[in-house]
Amino acid sequence: LRTPVTGIEPEELRRVLEAACKVAARDIKAGKVADYIPALARVPSSKLGAAIVTVDGDVILYGDAQEPFSIQSISKVFTLTMVLSAIGDSKRFWERVGREPSGSAFNSIVQLEMEHGIPRNPLINAGAIVVSDVLHGVLKSKDTVSAVVDFMRQISQSPRVSVDPVVAESEAVAGFRNASLANFLKSFRNLDHDVADVLHVYFNQCAIAMSCEELARASLYLAVEGDHPLTGSKVLSSSRTRRVNSIMLMCGHYDASGDFAFRVGLPGKSGVGGGIVAVAPGRAVIVVWSPGLNKHGNSHAGTIVLEHFARQTGWSVF
Ligand code: GLN
Repeated sequence: LRTPVTGIEPEELRRVLEAACKVAARDIKAGKVADYIPALARVPSSKLGAAIVTVDGDVILYGDAQEPFSIQSISKVFTLTMVLSAIGDSKRFWERVGREPSGSAFNSIVQLEMEHGIPRNPLINAGAIVVSDVLHGVLKSKDTVSAVVDFMRQISQSPRVSVDPVVAESEAVAGFRNASLANFLKSFRNLDHDVADVLHVYFNQCAIAMSCEELARASLYLAVEGDHPLTGSKVLSSSRTRRVNSIMLMCGHYDASGDFAFRVGLPGKSGVGGGIVAVAPGRAVIVVWSPGLNKHGNSHAGTIVLEHFARQTGWSVF
């Protein structure tokens, strides 16, 4: 009998995940679905899905784990990965975007102005818009949105992955704040391309629809120092992968990143679609989806699932 690398048999992981989801389901009504993007407001708040993909390749699913949802800000981890893989960890890149927790809302305008157009980190909106701008420059000849979608298809091994055009349109129509951030960046000369072109990339990457299972497969390289055990490819160097994980731990939940580290203890990234990706280095990726959010824009029930799961498994980076 093989010993799982995770140290816990898949059947036991399934039992722990189910128990954690059942605890979270009791409190699911306390979350509120994002309504500032009209297309997201239509998603039922009762949805709850979870997926674990271990570094051994075991897959454990719960509830709505195979239903695609809007990945929103989770896309920021993957565009950052694409940029770091394409241009390396360049000094110039880290002059344009910081790597400190923001302590502010994900779409704060005041912080961007106070700090002269240098976003605190690549996982808040302003930082991710700079990342999309860099990516747009790196991929000169290719359509940037298609390149992001292709990357997601490849690392999730799911050709079905695509942008939800209704969500993308809804984001663009209601995207006043992101347009403001992009214009601020431009005024501080921290955007190389046209505001409209960069926002097009940003809105479309956020509108990619994926299931918990697909996202967990796609994120597995984060748990294996940049190697992707399912595709056999090297997605990112091990040192850069560590850096992405460190940024996720410090910044992945915006002004609730400290709370997530305190309660869960794993690098994670949330999105206002209600998804959370959590990385247990050397072991597995756990993805949860529940659209009801807390006041910081992170999945309310999703955080409870991860908190219980991490406590029961003892998985924590601390
Ligand atoms: N598309 C969303 C926005 O820009 C992403 C925010 C998020 O998921 N936190 O507002």
